Order: sequence, then C-alpha cells, then structure tokens
Amino acid sequence: MIDTLPLGLSTYSLGTPLRPSGLEALAEAGFSCIEYAFLFYHPDVEPSALGLGVGAAAQQAGLDVWSVHAPLDEGTDIASLDETARRYAVERMIHTLDLAEACGAKWVVVHCSHPLNREEQRHSARNQSLRSLNELFKRASQRGVGLAIENNPAPFVASNVAEIAWMLQMIDGEVGLCLDTGHANLTGQLDSILNTLCANIVTLHLHDNDGQDDDHWLPGIGTIDWQQVAGALQGCDYNGPLMCELAPSVVAQMQDLKAIAEAVRAAFSHREPWPSVSDNA
Ligand SMILES: [Zn+2]
Repeated sequence: MIDTLPLGLSTYSLGTPLRPSGLEALAEAGFSCIEYAFLFYHPDVEPSALGLGVGAAAQQAGLDVWSVHAPLDEGTDIASLDETARRYAVERMIHTLDLAEACGAKWVVVHCSHPLNREEQRHSARNQSLRSLNELFKRASQRGVGLAIENNPAPFVASNVAEIAWMLQMIDGEVGLCLDTGHANLTGQLDSILNTLCANIVTLHLHDNDGQDDDHWLPGIGTIDWQQVAGALQGCDYNGPLMCELAPSVVAQMQDLKAIAEAVRAAFSHREPWPSVSDNA
C-alpha cells in the first residue's frame, strides 16, 4: 500500500552543513532514507570520498541513501548551448555518479537544463540535454546507478508532459522520472504526468505549494490533491520511498521531524476506495 512505503527526506531540507545528529533525528522520527542533495559542486572535494562519508554517516544513523540530487550551480547546465560549458557540466555529473556509487545510492536525479533565458532556446537546449543524458546514462549504468530526470517549472527543459515524454523516449536507455509534485502543480501538469507517465516514475520529490510559487511546503498545506497523487502512484505500483523535498525553512519552523512524518503519512492515507487514474482525468 502506498501509505506504508518508507519515508524519505532530502538533506536539502535539513540545511547545511549536514550533521550526523540531524540524520539520527530523522531516523528517530520514522524516516528510512535520504536523498543526498549535492546541489553545489565543489572542485576541491573528491566525489568518491564524499560519497563514502555520506554513506557511512547515513548507515550509522540507520538510514539508506536512496538517491543523490545532482548539482544545480552555474557550471552544471547539461543543456548549455556553449559546447565547452556543456562538456564541463557532463564531467561534473560524472563525478556526481561516482559520489552516488560510493554512497550506495540507487538513483541520481538530474535537471534537464537550467532556466532558459529565452523560449527560442528550447529546441537547441533540449537537443544538448539529450546528448548529455545519453552519455550520462551509459556512465551511470557502468556504475550500477540509475538516472532519473526531474520535471521542472516552465523556463526549464522537461516542464510539460509532452516534453518529458519526448526526453524519456529519445534518451538511449532506461531513464526514469523523478516526479516533483510541487513543480507539476506550478505548471498545471500534475494530472497529465500522473495520467500518462506514471509508469516511468522511479522516485519522488514530494512538496506542496499554492500553484503560484515554488514554496516546497509540507504536503497538505497547498493546493495539491494528495488523494489523487496517492491513488495514481498506487495504481501504477510505485514502490520507491515517499521522498520529501521540503524547504529548509519549513523544517526549521516546525522543529519536529515526527510531526513532518505524520503530516506526510496523513496526506497519503485514505478512507475511500482508490479512484482509478482515468476517473481523475
Ligand atoms: Zn525537486
């Protein structure tokens, strides 16, 4: 059942630096796994060494490292129209795959692009992204790590269902989808992603918003219909963790990881029989 799947939290939500006490508190609150948010690439950090450290700290706390979020900083746009910059970004992503292998993560979540400066760039950026993802898929497979692309708000590549489907189809390999519920709510694409790409979802970024801003609120606080999300995921036999990606301010304000775990469970609990996904269309 969907509401009994393991709970996970992105380390982005815990703020930086990542402390072992934070991971222990997470495990005590009922979370089973983390997404390690490697959001800023550090040229001075040896990725495998960092990965081993993250894996050991998680294990010590009794948590699995389910996924690694690939870097988002300036030098990591895999859809860059500047070929030198794109190659550089791919190198950084390969280091991220090394980190993921070292910490035992199953998936690396990547953004297909940075925000596009102009809509006219979309076609070229999409093709650049595809070139990068084809290479990264091969490199990920060599390391026994899966690659998942994330849906993002409109200025990014992979913001609408047709484009996500195109990317998934065109990548030369089995790449999964990380469904970011908040991003899908901003673009009005949550229904269509759940209806057409549910079988491609391998991991989640669960968070809520009011449909206007990328707030990364606790599920149940915004306008997302969580019964629909839960029903659809159950309908397509999603069996990964309920991985949350909450704003650090949300966690800091609540100061209670158990209450967060309960709120996520409540959003996914249900009393009515699950509606079929098509009933919600
Ligand atoms: Zn996300």
